[in-house]
Amino acid sequence: MLSSFQCLFTVIRTLPRLLTTFLLWAFEREADHVRGCAGFSCLVIGGANRLAGRRARLPTLLDRPHHIGGSSLTAAQAPEQPDFAPGRPIVFRNATVLTMDDAHRVLTGADVLVTGQRIEAVGPGLAVPEGTVEIDAAGGIVMPGMVDTHRHMWQTAMRGYGADWTLTQYFVWYYLQSGKLFRPQDVYAGNLLSAIEAIDAGVTTTVDWSHGLQTADHAEAAVEALREVPGRFVLAYGNIQQGPWEWSAAPEFRDFVTRHFSGSDDMLGFQMAFDVPGDEAFPERAAFEVARDLGVRVTTHAGVWGATNDNGIRLMYENGFMTPQTIYVHAATLAADSYHRIAATGGSVSVSTESEQSAGQGYPPTWQLRQHDIPVSLSMDTSVWWSGDLFSAMRSTLSADRVREHMHAHEKQETVTNHHLRAEQVVDWATRGGARVLGLDSLIGSLEPGKKADIVLIKNDASPVMFPLLHPYGHVVFQAQRGDVHTVVVNGRVVKHAHRLVGSDLEKARRATEETTEYLMGELGQQAWTEGMHPEIPEKRVIKNPYTYTYEDNVADAS
Ligand SMILES: [Zn+2]
Repeated sequence: MLSSFQCLFTVIRTLPRLLTTFLLWAFEREADHVRGCAGFSCLVIGGANRLAGRRARLPTLLDRPHHIGGSSLTAAQAPEQPDFAPGRPIVFRNATVLTMDDAHRVLTGADVLVTGQRIEAVGPGLAVPEGTVEIDAAGGIVMPGMVDTHRHMWQTAMRGYGADWTLTQYFVWYYLQSGKLFRPQDVYAGNLLSAIEAIDAGVTTTVDWSHGLQTADHAEAAVEALREVPGRFVLAYGNIQQGPWEWSAAPEFRDFVTRHFSGSDDMLGFQMAFDVPGDEAFPERAAFEVARDLGVRVTTHAGVWGATNDNGIRLMYENGFMTPQTIYVHAATLAADSYHRIAATGGSVSVSTESEQSAGQGYPPTWQLRQHDIPVSLSMDTSVWWSGDLFSAMRSTLSADRVREHMHAHEKQETVTNHHLRAEQVVDWATRGGARVLGLDSLIGSLEPGKKADIVLIKNDASPVMFPLLHPYGHVVFQAQRGDVHTVVVNGRVVKHAHRLVGSDLEKARRATEETTEYLMGELGQQAWTEGMHPEIPEKRVIKNPYTYTYEDNVADAS
């Protein structure tokens, strides 16, 4: 039997306009009717944003200097950047180097030399060509650029807005109410800011899970922003306002793919992004066939509580569309049979731990994936809730796996004496693991001669957290943060140095984002805008206790 959310997804993809009209009507009509009801409308409306916040709260876009660790510098105070002319070799000197090669070699006091787009050499005391720019990496960690395999970059223009949302509230806001308001320039604004944010945090490759591409113009805007920022990106094309069998069949879609992705370009790749809610008619077949025809990967939200589940996996499997190239996002609420199918067909899972923990897709599944030997990559999903850095993704993923391991043991009156998941493994997932699942492992993901130079230096001399450096993997996962990202190189080009961006126009992103938020605020009206980020808090239930630590007047019967 289909769950309410499966129904919701199926209908969304089949009759988007009708459903939206109905739900908007129902939402307005029943906004106060939230408790004590069951069924479809209550699932959506009961979880939707009721209006707890009554104050008019407008966002302020602060004009602040760039943050560097514990201090800030204005442009005038900042030291001059070295001349990073194109083609000029670069060498990182005296670093702790996490190579992430097959042996996971960790080198101390080592150098990494970059010439052109590639890594020339890794090792101690390297001889370098004349004119090489030297970057003092002493006290720092040099590691491969991080890879995020699932980020809805267009949503970054609404950064932080949904901090208190559940997944239901997210669906209502984006899928049913406000997602359609986004114009091409709004997709551009979100993508531009997100792309800059990614490289600033050392995320050198990001999959833009771009499911707001309502028209060809929206798609053009998404690509334009990605090409403006000197990071490595993969556009995962999607459109939540239509079924994938509709948008993938449109001539404009084919035309767009042909124009932008005919040649090989490892700086901007392409995937198709859509979900399979489990309709037995399997209308998604047409979109999978287009992907097969184009020879592109499919990425799909799978195992999302109440939305996509084992039926979606089974349909993909029975129809022959589960491949080693398929990336399953979340995969958090699946039965063992589905994990077996993913493992058997060689697919991988993109784990978004902060998202799964906070929005409600299901428990972050790394413990299941380890058990089934399914390749893992990491992602942070959307900046509507979370920041676009993988330090938080690594930290939360390691912690979630360990929490589950301890809790499971305690339930059996046992004690975990050795953790199964280690910091080294999550660093691998954040770098090499992402490169592998994107088919880019021969190019990026490790620091080895011949590979493309996507490199991050974590170093912050002003921080008391950068020493002692005893356990480099642990330091990356549990000690470092995005403010400690000193230098970032993508494809041999320095895009950040001395904690300052090089070659990205943050002011342009600020203006574009400001225009988008002003526009959306105007479209929604101030009240709806404010209320949208203040969902109702569920009724408080106070338990009775034998020690009387609450006043009797406040005690409600929670039985
Ligand atoms: Zn997502």
